Amino acid sequence: MSTFADFKIKKQLRNALADLKLEKPTPIQQASFSPILGGFDFVGIAQTGTGKTIAYLLPILQDLKFSDQPHPRVLVLVPTRELVIQIVEEIEKLTPNLSVRVLGVYGGTNIKPQKQAIAQGLDIIVGTPRRLYDLALTSVLRLKSIKKLVIDEVDIMLDFGFKTQLRNIFEYLPAKRQNILFSATMTTYVDELIDGFLVNPVKKTISISGTPLDNISQESYAAPNFYTKANLLNHLLEDKKEYSKVLIFVATKVNADRLFETLNFESEVSVIHSSKEQNHRSKSLEKFDNGTSRILIATDVVSRGIDIEKITTVISFDTSFYPENYIHRIGRTGRAEEQGRSILLYSEKEIPLKDAIESLMKYTIPFSELPKEVEISSQLTPEENKSVVPEELNDTHFTPEGGASFHEKSAKNSKEKSVRKSYKKKLKERFKKPIRRGDKIQNMKKKRR
Ligand code: AMP
Repeated sequence: MSTFADFKIKKQLRNALADLKLEKPTPIQQASFSPILGGFDFVGIAQTGTGKTIAYLLPILQDLKFSDQPHPRVLVLVPTRELVIQIVEEIEKLTPNLSVRVLGVYGGTNIKPQKQAIAQGLDIIVGTPRRLYDLALTSVLRLKSIKKLVIDEVDIMLDFGFKTQLRNIFEYLPAKRQNILFSATMTTYVDELIDGFLVNPVKKTISISGTPLDNISQESYAAPNFYTKANLLNHLLEDKKEYSKVLIFVATKVNADRLFETLNFESEVSVIHSSKEQNHRSKSLEKFDNGTSRILIATDVVSRGIDIEKITTVISFDTSFYPENYIHRIGRTGRAEEQGRSILLYSEKEIPLKDAIESLMKYTIPFSELPKEVEISSQLTPEENKSVVPEELNDTHFTPEGGASFHEKSAKNSKEKSVRKSYKKKLKERFKKPIRRGDKIQNMKKKRR
């Protein structure tokens, strides 16, 4: 399929697309149209900018028949008021010639006019979870008529702590419905939702930068633990010319803060994660963007909004738990035809994750030996010591009834055991033994932020 003319859509929608000067469907639009129209549960891993909104709106609008029934048939949940407004606008732009009643609802505004608007009858309701739930608690908004549920930006929902609201809303929805999820990054939460609420979903992953491999050189280092990885970074990042704008990904907020404390380049490092206030995040980003700080430490979810040019190197300090996220990570460098560089650090435990990334990319990341100057630390972080699951992966509050908990699924999917065996020999060669107990990091003073 190469143009919208190949889609089976009503002429009113076709004309609207033409008026919007949209001719060719984007990859996510191509991938999602048939499954969503066919009524399948659907998971799209796609970032803003890929055309994901129209990707779900088009098949939904195609399927939506005229009705004057008062209660909505489509519910779209999004994390922010801005998105509510944006999606309502997109629906309006696509339906100037169709009779579709749409309403956006969000908090921070008077609920009364929203109730009045709902009472007049609706086809599609777009809202943020908290306000939507407040409305569902009233007798005005009835959700039992919902046939299709869209949750957009699921990863951000998690970041904003909307789990409880979502779970509450689900209780008001009919069990028989079509579920459509969109998320820029894969997270355990998306996994839990898929496990608990979706029925044999069709899953499509779209990378914003197409095939990011072409102009990004990739390499990997094996390092046994956090502090050895940190030693390696302290060594590599001394080369300020080569590493002039470096984005470092970590798996958890704790690791973000810990790495910030551990890196030597005090004034040149910024850190962002979801526990930091918006103001702090904006300042850190600005400093990184304008070059005041050379190094930015970020978690996957929070880094999503970053649109910063000329990142020379992306470092995956923790190997991403979901292979799709690695592709998103490295897509931050090598933009606009420039050569980018990606460095992946992995411990023994992370080998199965690295394998998953390589099989997704169908590419083996070249291996680099640890430079001899890099000290192998024997110090372990509390998490490494206890070998607990990182906080993001330990998020089990949301275990829907009847759904497998994350841990079950993780155990089910884990390739760790078998992989470990086959790698045992290789590992011995790669992971050097600690040269002495303790290391300089242990004694490092805490830095001021
Ligand atoms: P989204 O990923 O939904 O945030 O969309 C990003 C932007 O891409 C929006 O401004 C859309 O209007 C635009 N867009 C969506 N689909 C297409 C398309 N098929 N061709 C060109 N632009 C598009």
